[in-house]
Amino acid sequence: MKALLPYFHYLKPHWRLLLPGILCSIVFGVSSAGGIPFMINVVMSDLFEKRVDNPNLWPAIGVAAMLVGIFVIRGVFGFVGGYFMSWTGMNVAISIRDDLFAKLQSLPLAFFESNKKGDLLTKINNDAGAIQTLIIEVAAECVRQPATMLVAIGYLVVKSFTFGEFAFLLLFILAVPVLVLPVKMIGKHLKRRGREMQESHAHIMQHLTENLDALVEVRSFGLEGAQQEEFSKRMDYNRYVQLKLKKYELSQQPSMEIIVSIVIGAVCVFAYAKGITFATFAELGAVLYFTFDPLKRILRMFNIVHRTEGSLDRVSSVMDMELPMRDPEVPTLLERARGDIRFEGVTFAYADEPVLYDLSVDIAAGTNIALVGPSGAGKSTFIKLIPRFYDVSEGRILLDGSDIRDFRQADLRRNIAVVSQAPVLFDRSLHENILLGRPEATREEVEEAARRAYAHDFIMAFDKGYDTLAGERGDRLSGGQKQRIALARAFLRDAPILLLDEATSALDSESESFIQKALAELVKGKTVFSIAHRLSTIRHADRILVFEAGRIVAQGTHDSLLEDSDVYRNLVKKQSLA
Ligand code: ATP
Repeated sequence: MKALLPYFHYLKPHWRLLLPGILCSIVFGVSSAGGIPFMINVVMSDLFEKRVDNPNLWPAIGVAAMLVGIFVIRGVFGFVGGYFMSWTGMNVAISIRDDLFAKLQSLPLAFFESNKKGDLLTKINNDAGAIQTLIIEVAAECVRQPATMLVAIGYLVVKSFTFGEFAFLLLFILAVPVLVLPVKMIGKHLKRRGREMQESHAHIMQHLTENLDALVEVRSFGLEGAQQEEFSKRMDYNRYVQLKLKKYELSQQPSMEIIVSIVIGAVCVFAYAKGITFATFAELGAVLYFTFDPLKRILRMFNIVHRTEGSLDRVSSVMDMELPMRDPEVPTLLERARGDIRFEGVTFAYADEPVLYDLSVDIAAGTNIALVGPSGAGKSTFIKLIPRFYDVSEGRILLDGSDIRDFRQADLRRNIAVVSQAPVLFDRSLHENILLGRPEATREEVEEAARRAYAHDFIMAFDKGYDTLAGERGDRLSGGQKQRIALARAFLRDAPILLLDEATSALDSESESFIQKALAELVKGKTVFSIAHRLSTIRHADRILVFEAGRIVAQGTHDSLLEDSDVYRNLVKKQSLA
């Protein structure tokens, strides 16, 4: 139950549902454990034992009406209580899922590199689903069953004193620890197997996502058989763990029922030996039923908690994650930046080993910078530090004279447009995809941005024009078309800082020329950082930064570097940039 504690605060906003739910559940408990045994006593002793030869039917009709009345009260309050409590449970479960998703939106990129996609999907889907089931079940039963049991125990105590007969009470008290024992033993196993099952789900999901992300590679390298084999292996393990889990779940019910049957047997023998009347026996039997049945259900609830503890821990591991990149308490205001960027002694490491060493560079607003260097030299990493996708390990980055960590992240990123090598589109309309650049833009502004990115004509050639769906990750568009949609987004954003990662793969010459023209327009008046693969980009740059092994080893214009830098000359030779 301890694992549930961090989730209790979710109940607070739903007290309007919770309160009637609790009250109805209490009425249900009282009418079950108090009303039914009481009625049995009335029927047995007041009606049947006192029946005369020619009975008047009215007392029997009155008792029957009372009996029906009690079941109506029990039924209505049980229904309303269960409904409100389940409603509360669902609201709580939805809030947990919402919070989990919101947390994922705010976690740094580094988190997603060390956590596999399949595992995260399982956390959001299966683990949060298991918690949802748990909460709904627990919510429906957590008041109703204890209330029923407490009333039944109270009834048992009162009757024991009334009859001066404590054997029933004693039997119940003795049976409780015996009933708890198997639950405790099984609970330990359920906890372990429950965790293993969720991990197994995560492994299956991981394999599935990997397979779906690499459909082309799987087919072209003929990996279908190996993929299938791996999938079957993971499914086999999943079945093994599920069967183990089922074994423990299924053994709980019979073991408890056997213990309860021993108690009932003892009660029968005892009642027979003591010559207890049938009416009293039936009444106390019913009370015992209403003590054991809720107890059984409460213990079952504990087992559901045990089984779900793994999921609770897995979800908590994300929820409790400290956010390393918090916004400052008193942020420096940033409306529209000028675009002066300065790296001061910046060192950065993804893990232990730095990949950028002590970089210092000063870039005036409006400068067009090209980054070149061999693969793995640190160009992309350099660019990712500017919008704070990662924070520097040492040194600082200044925008218009202020440390970028002093701004709110949203303000900083609003001033930066990123166009990556392989832009990702969402499976929404092309209009919505461009609108991401500035969500408050009008339809006319979106079209204007598309025109400037040379995307308008190809968009209009689709039957549905701007309402055409892009397909998953933009699969219905060619590489060049996706690039132009990404450029349209950047035009719409009109941010003073532009980060470009040029596509390395060849685009068709028409797309290429459109993109070149659009880019030439887009970069005007902006501070631009391009990871350059094309000679034209390099030639147009005001300054080129040459990266090698995490350092800037030379900088200048194309012509000056050709003269002064061996590294640059070699690069140009190798990449045929000249
Ligand atoms: P390319 O031109 O091939 O894209 P690059 O110059 O942009 O290369 P980076 O991508 O910045 O180079 O990589 C610099 C170094 O950082 C490399 O050694 C790379 O292995 C490492 N690296 C990059 N991304 C990560 C990451 N997410 N986690 C750990 N190491 C990384």
